[in-house]
This record gives sequence, structure tokens and C-alpha cells, in this order.
Amino acid sequence: IAESDMTFIRMHEYMTGLYHQLLVNTNEGEKALQYLLDRGFPMDLIRSEQIGYAPEMSKFATNALLEQKYNEETAYQAGLVSRNEENFSYYDRFVGRIMIPIKNHQGHLVGYTARSIDGSEPKYLNTPETEIFKKRELFFNLHDARKHIRKLDNIILMEGHLDVLKVKTTNVKHIVATMGTELSQENLNLLERLSSNVTIMFDGDSAGRNATLKVGDTLLKRGLNVYVQKVPDKMDPDEYIETFGAVKFEQFIADEQQHYLHFKAEVLRHEAKENDMKLTQHLNTLASDLQFVRDHLTAERLVVTISSIFGVDKQALSGIIPEPVRRQP
Ligand code: ATP
Ligand code: MN
Ligand code: MN
Ligand code: MN
Repeated sequence: IAESDMTFIRMHEYMTGLYHQLLVNTNEGEKALQYLLDRGFPMDLIRSEQIGYAPEMSKFATNALLEQKYNEETAYQAGLVSRNEENFSYYDRFVGRIMIPIKNHQGHLVGYTARSIDGSEPKYLNTPETEIFKKRELFFNLHDARKHIRKLDNIILMEGHLDVLKVKTTNVKHIVATMGTELSQENLNLLERLSSNVTIMFDGDSAGRNATLKVGDTLLKRGLNVYVQKVPDKMDPDEYIETFGAVKFEQFIADEQQHYLHFKAEVLRHEAKENDMKLTQHLNTLASDLQFVRDHLTAERLVVTISSIFGVDKQALSGIIPEPVRRQP
């Protein structure tokens, strides 16, 4: 690691410690701590994740880092403070927010996602792109999840950082979140190396559903085995756990992974209503998608499932699947 990167990382380590102390040990942090506890984030998780609070001061980080002999320009480059481009003064980027530290894959602290607690926008403010915080290359929680992913040969992708944190209070550990709903090429390359099975578990709303279709197609075409963990309507994984509890959640994960094309077939069937033209188009799309399912038995089963969802003969569906270029016996 370059020396300048280490400097940025040390600055983050220092600030993370301060923010954390503020959250757990001071009056300024009380409201934020109560917010987290009310939402069911337990104290031991808050400690182990080093969650913190950035106070409502415009120069808290700016001054704290100056006192540590880091100059303001360096703090700015590290993404910890902002710069007024008119008079080149520096002020805190994160004010009055819950600070969720983000580690890179080596476990070094490289940035934050910061949630407002007073309804102010944006709800989440992230560290900007820096030399050490490159969103395209990051998965939230990968450092901790890695060994579980390897053991299970499965990785669960979530939308929200707080979802990942809440799930960490259960026995489900092979979970990460992307830094945004788009998967970068770097993300994809990394996913491919981590595991052959990817499970998408986005929010149970229309945004989550649309993102699932987008990410699912991308992963499928990469030749990965793609599954969907379908969160009930209007819920996200965090809310699921708050509503049904950790044991139910663990059971849900163990029992209800759906193949991505099964999920997609249900969504498309529903969307087409009784429109014959759409039904035909969707069936053709699904037939084309089936060529990317490498495993023979899985493909067989999906043909049965999808043809039954659309009410067609399975031979008819098999007949229009393009020659599987990459299917393995
Ligand atoms: P919460 O439960 O705290 O409301 P959430 O994770 O359920 O948070 P969503 O609205 O479902 O919030 O958004 C999912 C994820 O998308 C967030 O965790 C965050 O990573 C990202 N996100 C949402 N809103 C913003 C925003 N305004 N700026 C940047 N990222 C955002
Ligand atoms: Mn969402
Ligand atoms: Mn959500
Ligand atoms: Mn949520």
C-alpha cells in the first residue's frame, strides 16, 4: 500500500474512533444512539462495527485532524472534509449523521456511508471517490463475509448497508451490499472469483424488483448461477428481521431461494396481464435467457416451471431455446 493511502487510512481510523466515542459516550450522541437502538441495532454490533456519530458542528473533523497534524488539503483529499471553492476554506462533510464505517477488502477503513436522522436529504451521504475509496471496486462487508462466502460458495447481495448490518446480528454471514445499485465491471470480476452462486436480495418494492431484473440479467449472462431471495412486499431485509425475527429470517434464507429465471418468469407473466403480444415476447426472452443456464438439470427444471407459469407445453419452450453455447454436461 502506498504511503499516502496509509495516511488516508490512518485518518479514517482516527476519525472513526472519535465518531464512535461521540455516539456511545456523550450527550451529543444520545439521540443518534437511541435511534439505532430503537431500530434494533444492538450495542455489541454498534461496537464491533465501530458505528459513530458526526456531531452538528461544521469544523469537528476539520479541527480534529488539524490537531493531529494532518493539513486540511490532505483531509479534503481523503474525503473527510469539504472545500468551499470560493474562498478555499474547509468544513466538515459529515454533520449530524450516523457514521457507518466502510472497510475495503483488506479490512482497512476507507470511507463512510452516513445516515441523516432528522429527515434531512440526502438520507445517505457517502464518502466521495478518493484514492482509497473507489466505489466500483468495493463491496460493503466483503472483508468480514469472505470466509463465509467461500465456505458456502454463495454470496448474498443486498441494497442497503443497514440491511447488511442487521443481518449480521443473525447467523447469516455471507452478505454484502454494493455501493449503489449498478454493478461495475470490477464488481462483476470480483463476484465471479468469489463464488459461483449469487443470490440477489434487494428490497421488496418496485425499485428493488427493477434492480433485481437488471443485476440478475447481468449476472446470468456472466454464466453465474443466479438466485433471488424474494423479500415480502414493501419490506427490506432489515424490516423482515424486525418483523419476523432472526430465526425466521435464517429459515427464510435456508428454504426459499428461487432461481433468478423463475423469479423473472413470474414478474413477466404478471406484467403481461392478458396481452398476447407481450406474453409471446416474454416467452421468447425467457427462452433466450435459458441458454445461459449452465447446469443441465437446472435448465430442465426451469423449462418445466416457466412453461407452466405461461401455460405452454414444455416441449414448445425447449424448442426455441437457442443452442446452449456454454452449457456444461
Ligand atoms: P433505511 O432503512 O435507513 O431507510 P435503506 O437502506 O432501507 O435505509 P433505501 O431507501 O432502501 O434505504 O436505499 C437503499 C440503499 O441505497 C441505501 O442503503 C443506500 O446505500 C442507498 N441510498 C439510498 N438513498 C440514498 C441517497 N440519497 N444517497 C446515496 N445513497 C442512497
Ligand atoms: Mn430500497
Ligand atoms: Mn431499504
Ligand atoms: Mn431500510
